[in-house]
Amino acid sequence: MKKTSLILVLAFASAITILPSCKNATNMTDNNPLLESFNTPHQTAPFDKIKEVHYMPAFKNALETGRTEINAIIENPEAPNFTNTIEALEHAGRLLNRVSTIFFNLNSAETNEEIQSIAREVSPLLSEYTNDIWLNDQLFERVKTVFEANKNNGQLNKEQLKLLDNAYKGFTRRGALLSGENKARYREISSELSQLSLQFGENVLAETNDFTLHLDDEKDLAGLPEAIVEAAAQLATEKDMEGWLFTLHFPSYTPFMKYADNRALREKVFRAYSTRGNQPNIRNNNEIIKKTVALRLEKAQLLGYPNHADYVLSERMAKTPGKVNEFLDELLVSSLPFAQKELEEVKAFAQTLGFSGPLQRWDFAYYSEKLKTSRFDLSDEMIKPYFQLAKVKQGVFDLTNQLWGITFKPNPEIPLYQEEVEAFDVFDKDGSFLAVLYLDFFPRPGKQGGAWMTSYRKQHLENGNDIRPHISVVTNFTRPTSTRPSLLTYNEVTTFLHEFGHATHGMLSQVAYESMAGTSVYRDFVELPSQIMENWARQKEWLQQVAVHYQTGEPIPSQLVDKIIASSNFQSGYAAVRQLSFGLNDMAWHTISSPVNEEVYTFEEKAMAPTELFPKVEGSCMSTAFSHIFDGGYAAGYYGYKWAEVLDADAFDLFRKNGIFDRETAQSFRTNILEKGGTDDPMTLYVNFRGHEPSIEPLLERNGLVEGKRIRD
Ligand SMILES: [Zn+2]
Repeated sequence: MKKTSLILVLAFASAITILPSCKNATNMTDNNPLLESFNTPHQTAPFDKIKEVHYMPAFKNALETGRTEINAIIENPEAPNFTNTIEALEHAGRLLNRVSTIFFNLNSAETNEEIQSIAREVSPLLSEYTNDIWLNDQLFERVKTVFEANKNNGQLNKEQLKLLDNAYKGFTRRGALLSGENKARYREISSELSQLSLQFGENVLAETNDFTLHLDDEKDLAGLPEAIVEAAAQLATEKDMEGWLFTLHFPSYTPFMKYADNRALREKVFRAYSTRGNQPNIRNNNEIIKKTVALRLEKAQLLGYPNHADYVLSERMAKTPGKVNEFLDELLVSSLPFAQKELEEVKAFAQTLGFSGPLQRWDFAYYSEKLKTSRFDLSDEMIKPYFQLAKVKQGVFDLTNQLWGITFKPNPEIPLYQEEVEAFDVFDKDGSFLAVLYLDFFPRPGKQGGAWMTSYRKQHLENGNDIRPHISVVTNFTRPTSTRPSLLTYNEVTTFLHEFGHATHGMLSQVAYESMAGTSVYRDFVELPSQIMENWARQKEWLQQVAVHYQTGEPIPSQLVDKIIASSNFQSGYAAVRQLSFGLNDMAWHTISSPVNEEVYTFEEKAMAPTELFPKVEGSCMSTAFSHIFDGGYAAGYYGYKWAEVLDADAFDLFRKNGIFDRETAQSFRTNILEKGGTDDPMTLYVNFRGHEPSIEPLLERNGLVEGKRIRD
């Protein structure tokens, strides 16, 4: 999954170059580069001077400084006001944020055992620090006083009001307004919920690890690609076994279901996968789910919300469960007929290959893959020679230049945490300095998988000065070899655009307060700037600028571009319905008005019934392994994946109408959305740009889910 940031979110923390107010007299506190002013270009992190040994003393010092700053707010003899309480909270913990930001960014991009061990040591200290802030009654009293006095008095500007509101909600959404028994119960529920979520996750992991399929007859491998067979052989060797070992982890499970000719084995693996957490053993998640949703309901009601979804969505662009359900239903009505048609196509195709009887869940991926190959004849290997990383990078820079006039200049003076990272000074169209940009492309043993954007410093104002951001894009693209440059798959090209979209959100930020800068927006809004960029990868005009054969210099053939676009819509109806089924299930669990007494499977079956396309499989259950919502922060939020797609398609539709390089449209996107960060309600920002609320039509059209407009090969 693509992610925007791995930084631990600290209470009211900011970054920047403030010297600590007090210093311990230990060696590692003196001359500790993390605690001193950054004497580097644009005050970038002095990676060349920071050593592992500096982190722990810096954390301890910064935690102490943060506490001193918080205490100073609480003990301030002056009456609480916006400056001495709300702004002071925003600024408290800056040093801590600076240290944490560098540390956790490196723990993702360039870690080692020492850093990992520091992370384990420091994480509880950081949670304790944030808890001490949010649960502090005296601090809340001051915030509440300022909130009551200022929320309607017309003295504060829009951004200040938003900061005030965020601070107040930060406390009240954690139970600060509760008293006596209710407060105690709230804390009890919170701690019980975190235990349940841990237990849920551990059960899913144990169930996933528990199953292996051990094959010793080569015949059973029929259909599987060589690389998959090799990986299975290696896994067997690692466990001192003969033959081949397959597991329920994605890199093994997904290709097995797609390619294995042996139907009985596919069924066996599918049944193992889909019954995780629902088997009669100690890892059964049924009671955990019922307890979790009951406690979430009780917690929401304590805080004055009808249910958990209402509680979550009040801080989202979608706002209410009614709006989300309406959205999911609307998409379902449009997608379902296509999904049914796609299923029929797969059935018909399977029959041409000799299949008979009802098509089961363990047949769908297998025959779909065969249908896709016969229809498109397209592979990564055919596309890659046209996408050299260096050219794609230039193409992405040129695109941002065409849209906003931004330019990029390598700055070799900026210290790096790894020599292959690139650092750029980024300039605005008038030549003024905009941001520092780090690009870190290739996999290394100390780097997490996937791709993400993060920042080492966020844009904000400090004493009226515009402090510009330091943004980083980290990916795991194919490394160059001695004979070939780095060549990207099409998926990697869109990933680059996606993360670069997040980066522009960070680089173009123009706000007063760091806690609202760039990507600090509601979760169902944050993927708009990233996903909209992916649209250019579907535009011939842009693709032909960047896609040039690395040996012959020939631009990508037009036919190949058509195929790429058409194949990306393969089974888009089915994919949509599947996502919607998860979203509906999530919403059902979190809009209950009383605890659930029936079986988890029965509850889920009702919620997902409108999306069901296959015969029932006894014992299988989606919820008992639905980690996103029971162990991953997506409760009442799964709809967000589709929501973001609707937004980006609808927003890009304006570019399609005005021209995909239209400066005026780009400028409006910049001033109304990218610059604004979290300073205003996202729907307001969106409507300011688009002229109306998002409509699902452009997404349906893009995915070929509109009758008569389906793109076919
Ligand atoms: Zn993203």
